[in-house]
Amino acid sequence: MNYVFAPPPLVSAPVDGGAERFPVHRIYCVGSNYRDHAREMGRTGREPPVFFMKPADALLPVPAGETGVMAYPSLTHNLHHEVELVVAIGTGGRDIGAADALGHVFGYAVGLDMTRRDLQAQMKKLSAPWCIGKGFEQSAPLGPITPRAQAGAIEAGEIALRLNGVERQRSAVSQMIWSVPEIIAHLSAAWTLAPGDLIFTGTPAGVGPVERGELLEASCSGLEPLRVRVS
Ligand code: MN
Repeated sequence: MNYVFAPPPLVSAPVDGGAERFPVHRIYCVGSNYRDHAREMGRTGREPPVFFMKPADALLPVPAGETGVMAYPSLTHNLHHEVELVVAIGTGGRDIGAADALGHVFGYAVGLDMTRRDLQAQMKKLSAPWCIGKGFEQSAPLGPITPRAQAGAIEAGEIALRLNGVERQRSAVSQMIWSVPEIIAHLSAAWTLAPGDLIFTGTPAGVGPVERGELLEASCSGLEPLRVRVS
């Protein structure tokens, strides 16, 4: 096949404990999936799940033991951190039932749904799409993906974020409004899921601003932690 220019490189993420990489197809995100965060964003926490996407090349994969570097993005004066459990889909499908959903999961990682909060807020006021607030370059830092069998009972653990060593977000994963199987069921009713899809499952309360030079440390029980410095 001849192309008019070189095709872009395939986006991929490291898999914990191995040399193989996880090729990324799409990045789906769930908005407001913890009641305490939904309330801090002015919602009741009882709304149906809200989905949005980031482009696959917004991924900033960070290998185990390394500190990723994220450039402070353009146009914003209020870059926010959102720590999230990320589900990596290994087997695609549509109209997947919640009871079958975990069989479609390759593994889990901890990720950051970095957000230009001021731009997102402007778009919300206009009832316009959030793309400019959510879907910018390097807006999806991701730690190594741990295969499902090694990750254990992921929804029984905790998720947390430290900013410059100070804890800012912490929650039991079980506090998610929509569980991982329920998210997969809802998503696959709207889109055909494919191997390589990533799902950012929402953030607990405590989101806040990050400045240049600051260090984010995201963690989730059973998974490799993720470290990112904003430059
Ligand atoms: Mn989020």
